[in-house]
Amino acid sequence: MRKSFAFFLLLTLLFLSACAAQTGEDAGTAGPQTAEPKGKVYYAYFDTVSYVYDYAGDSAERFDDRSAEVSHILQEYHQLFDIYHEYSGVTNLCTLNKAAGGEALEVDAKLIDFLLYAREMYELTNGEMNVMLGAVLRLWHDCREAAENDPASAAIPDEEALRRAAGHTDIDCLEIDPERCTVRIADPEASIDVGALGKGYATERAAEFLEREGAFGYVLNIGGNIRCVGDRPDGSGWVTAIRDPQEPDERYACKIRIRDVSCVTSGVYERYFTVKGQRYHHIIDRDTLYPAEYYSSLTVITGDSALADALSTALFCMPVREGMALAESIGGVEVLWIFPDGSRQSTPGFADLIEEQSST
Ligand code: ADP
Ligand code: MG
Repeated sequence: MRKSFAFFLLLTLLFLSACAAQTGEDAGTAGPQTAEPKGKVYYAYFDTVSYVYDYAGDSAERFDDRSAEVSHILQEYHQLFDIYHEYSGVTNLCTLNKAAGGEALEVDAKLIDFLLYAREMYELTNGEMNVMLGAVLRLWHDCREAAENDPASAAIPDEEALRRAAGHTDIDCLEIDPERCTVRIADPEASIDVGALGKGYATERAAEFLEREGAFGYVLNIGGNIRCVGDRPDGSGWVTAIRDPQEPDERYACKIRIRDVSCVTSGVYERYFTVKGQRYHHIIDRDTLYPAEYYSSLTVITGDSALADALSTALFCMPVREGMALAESIGGVEVLWIFPDGSRQSTPGFADLIEEQSST
């Protein structure tokens, strides 16, 4: 995590250096002058690092205001989505999970909208991305934490326990009443986990705010979940690197140039633990109840960051043919699949985004 954090910073710097180079190029030419980017960093949300960049040349005061509001939006969703902690005056997912099997609870309308969207994503992905997988994910999460604390005794979840937990993952036990603004988890053994979707959804809401404000030329990077708001003022887009999953801290698989879209990668190197030399990562295939084995990493590029996040997890759990068909049926979705042997496949439009092939 630490080393990968360093590389994460490096990737982030790619944005800045690309911009600095561009600033130099632009200096003598006519047309809009590209300003030095401004950036803010936050450490308090979604257990990750969040950056807000402004390449639009906003005044310091306006950038402060806009980034403060982005931070506020992230904080609000961070609290609503937290399944481990409760916050005073907030009925969040932790509260809902605790109340499973009991009464319906009144929640913030934002949580209703999110859960309706989560259900939509369940339908869209044919259940591969299921926020009601909490009972199964918790078993994996607990083993990962135990392994981090005591690597020598690392173990994977008990097969029987996994199978029992899988009996409590029915999306229909999530009862949402938009009129009353209430939610109830009908099954006392079931629980919500929005790790696959929450960060992207919150990122999209922050981007939406910036768009409403008329901001153009901002980049949000919420734990690697990238969302470009508009384009750089000179129309040249932003260059970002997709890690090489074999050596995620050292190399990149390719660099891409993007504008006006979100770019989200799910990878086996992000969160994992090791048992007897075998790695177990954090994306669980509902069919096997084990980490999905199709790919080493998968990148989704599409306009909406919530959709990109949902798909990054869901496509990870499907064969490439199925994923390709799903991406095509949605439209405006580009995907790069990197297989465990290092080979790659991508949607036809992905090639147009490539700026540079892998580092060597
Ligand atoms: P990250 O957010 O860590 O970059 P993902 O977007 O792929 O990666 O989300 C992974 C997280 O989603 C896991 O940590 C877990 O909480 C949750 N998750 C794993 N598998 C599934 C699944 N099949 N459906 C829904 N949520 C999942
Ligand atoms: Mg995801």
